[in-house]
Amino acid sequence: MTAFETRLVHPSGIPGEPSHATSTPLYQTATFHQDDAGAARWDYSRSGNPTRDVLERQLTDLDGAHHAFAYASGIAAVNAVLRLLAPGDEIVCGDDLYGGTLRLLDDHARHLGVRVIQVDTSDPSAVERAVSDVTALILVETPSNPRLRTADIPALARIARRHGARLAVDNSMLSPYLQRPLDLGADIAIQSATKLLGGHGDLTAGVVATNDAALAERLAFLRNAEGTALAPFESWLLIRGLETLAVRLERQLDNVARLLPWLRGHPAIRRVHYPGSPDLAPRSGVVISVETGSVPISRRLVAATRLFRTTVSFGCVTSSISLPCTMSHASVPEARRAQSGLAEDLVRISVGIEAADDLVADLERALGEEKGKGEPRGPVIRSESVSAPGLLGSP
Ligand code: PLP
Repeated sequence: MTAFETRLVHPSGIPGEPSHATSTPLYQTATFHQDDAGAARWDYSRSGNPTRDVLERQLTDLDGAHHAFAYASGIAAVNAVLRLLAPGDEIVCGDDLYGGTLRLLDDHARHLGVRVIQVDTSDPSAVERAVSDVTALILVETPSNPRLRTADIPALARIARRHGARLAVDNSMLSPYLQRPLDLGADIAIQSATKLLGGHGDLTAGVVATNDAALAERLAFLRNAEGTALAPFESWLLIRGLETLAVRLERQLDNVARLLPWLRGHPAIRRVHYPGSPDLAPRSGVVISVETGSVPISRRLVAATRLFRTTVSFGCVTSSISLPCTMSHASVPEARRAQSGLAEDLVRISVGIEAADDLVADLERALGEEKGKGEPRGPVIRSESVSAPGLLGSP
């Protein structure tokens, strides 16, 4: 088999496609003419579309899966997994899940009779204590957003297996280039392809991948019945975005490698969150979270950067910066944020592909503008990530 990087730029073709186009053709159509009134390979794009088929074969391959489904958004992909549950089922999930996922879980608990138990999924023993015979699903994000806590996927997979539950991993922070949850024992891998897979901030999409044929059959049925599949144009855009996933990520990781020690050594930064040891090359994603020790300072930092655009979401080729507590997590009551350990001054930085010197200069200038503004701060703590969960992610 060719390497992952090679497969990114060589998606399978469309069987029978007459033009032999070298880039995947966009079948921007709702219906397909049929020779007769019988069954056809393609009849209606909600049910199947040649462009989306190419994308899904590629996503299947990249995730090391047997089946992959592309959805209209990452949250539609999460919902597809939650739709596999039945009333009375229990979900054990992270207490640091993306806000939209939490919102959905609340709704499923209220209206569909599903019980939701939130635990610190970075601690397998906490998960072990929480699961029971009615646990149908363990749902984790790793690393989590925005505090970048990590979960031990093989350990959680063993726990799920022992209890007859399934493990679903939201892999949006890393993509299959850096982590393949199915290879590590998960039953289901989820992506917000809006982030790294698309990579250009120009589409919303989601992916669910699995090796389980019965699950795949149910996912396929529900997706057609509910009409949540990714549209042809977005499928085409995502195929195009995937071509550069590896080169984009390598460049972004190089920039992370440059920024991490710089941020750790900056006097205005009290704490740096990033998974893994500082001695290791950074391969834990393109998001770094920092604390300044002061909400006003963090607010001004977010407003003062120019290359780091003030925006929600992450994983794009352009760098971005946000203050989760007043942006992506603003809808979470302050007390709940505090309970989850999410610091109000936490700044989330997504590192893009710009020249590292320019990124450093942008942050240097923005942090320099803080000099003399006289916000009192506590002692400087140099620390790594892997801390308590952020309750919610971006919108
Ligand atoms: N999962 C995670 C970890 C996210 O951060 C997000 C969005 O920020 C989603 C899922 C939802 O994805 P989308 O915004 O594409 O619907």
